[in-house]
Amino acid sequence: MKPEISQALFDRAQLSIPGGVNSPVRAWRGVGGTPRFIQKGEGSHLFDVDGNEYIDYIGSWGPLLLGHRHPEILDAIQGALARGTSFGAPTELEIELAELIREFVPSMEMVRMVNSGTEATMSALRVARGFTNRDITIKFEGCYHGHVDSLLVKAGSGVATLGLPDSPGVPKGFSDTTITLPYNNVEALEQAFHAHGDKIAAVIVEPVCGNMGCIPPNAGYLEAMRRITERHEALLIFDEVMTGFRVAPGGAQSLYNIKPDLTTIGKVIGGGLPIAAYGGRKDIMTFVAPSGPIYQAGTLSGNPLAVSAGLAMLRHLQAHSEVYEQLNQATAQLAACAPESLTVNRVGSMMTWFFTDQAVTDYDSAKTSNTTQFGKFFHAMLERGIYLPPSQYEALFVSTAHTEADIARTVEAARESFEIALN
Ligand SMILES: *Cc1c(COP(=O)(O)O)cnc(C)c1O
Repeated sequence: MKPEISQALFDRAQLSIPGGVNSPVRAWRGVGGTPRFIQKGEGSHLFDVDGNEYIDYIGSWGPLLLGHRHPEILDAIQGALARGTSFGAPTELEIELAELIREFVPSMEMVRMVNSGTEATMSALRVARGFTNRDITIKFEGCYHGHVDSLLVKAGSGVATLGLPDSPGVPKGFSDTTITLPYNNVEALEQAFHAHGDKIAAVIVEPVCGNMGCIPPNAGYLEAMRRITERHEALLIFDEVMTGFRVAPGGAQSLYNIKPDLTTIGKVIGGGLPIAAYGGRKDIMTFVAPSGPIYQAGTLSGNPLAVSAGLAMLRHLQAHSEVYEQLNQATAQLAACAPESLTVNRVGSMMTWFFTDQAVTDYDSAKTSNTTQFGKFFHAMLERGIYLPPSQYEALFVSTAHTEADIARTVEAARESFEIALN
């Protein structure tokens, strides 16, 4: 059905909300057309206000590893709701969640909960600076770490989709503390450390990049990063907000067997509620107030609704570690259906069909994609009831709620849509 109600809502939204949306990529600027306003979700499916049903491959941009309205998560939220929404005082639930995170991600010896991935990376960077007494951060082109001032440099994702340069409103002094390097390039990293090694507080990286489309690390890249940071006594921060509990139960660090000093997680740990966390080496995390001098706080941090949802999510994953095999297999079927002329990158249940025949290993190679073809593909899929991320520079996500039938329907729609997009 035509998105008439969505369009009316979008028109109305733009009068009160910048661009009509509360996060830029939702406005579909990368593909054009009317963003669908959502009525409800159920399992792997989304329903828009115009009466259309879609198989959802966004999953709220990653959090919904178990699909929409998973009963265990709903029960947990309802249970918490009956006792109150927020206390601004500690609860036992928070200890349980922190302990469970430590079990899944052993490098996170201590954990602090926050409300968004942005807050987690912002805080982790502050801790890295405070702990090392250095100011410079290294990040990589196309990696997105939330809208943290100093990290909005070549930040992939929504910024890449809009073709914006670095954001206005970020003081030069902030972005001056950031060195941006190409991803998957050991030599560039070595050179930067050679030139500025004693001033570099931290290297922050998406160990599997998701925010310029899915790009895995080259063999040996993360090992080199670990070696170089150690040599120069800079901290290594893995931003696993997307990859945590997604590419493996223990995140990318368990998949590639690298131990970062600090880790940020978010998305999946909230099961759809706003929560994130940062943590790592105990000697570093004890610098955080009130045990140490580095200030970081939050009125709603560790609130019982989000923590309960997160506990239900992690307990489910603990009891059902076989879900990762299921997710991998389902996503591999999607990866396999693309024509030879495309480049497909997949790690676990994160995947991108790149409309380029070049290998995609960094931001420059991602940018060789034909976004016009991607836009055609996106809309052809949408017409066939498949809801993909509305940008070439995003990863799609498969959930445990996606059935064999969902995947088969998606493969069929994709075959037809590739034909349309490429001709
Ligand atoms: C989504 C994301 C963030 C930001 O998280 P928000 O909750 O949107 O603030 C940070 N880092 C990575 C790798 C992400 O994918």
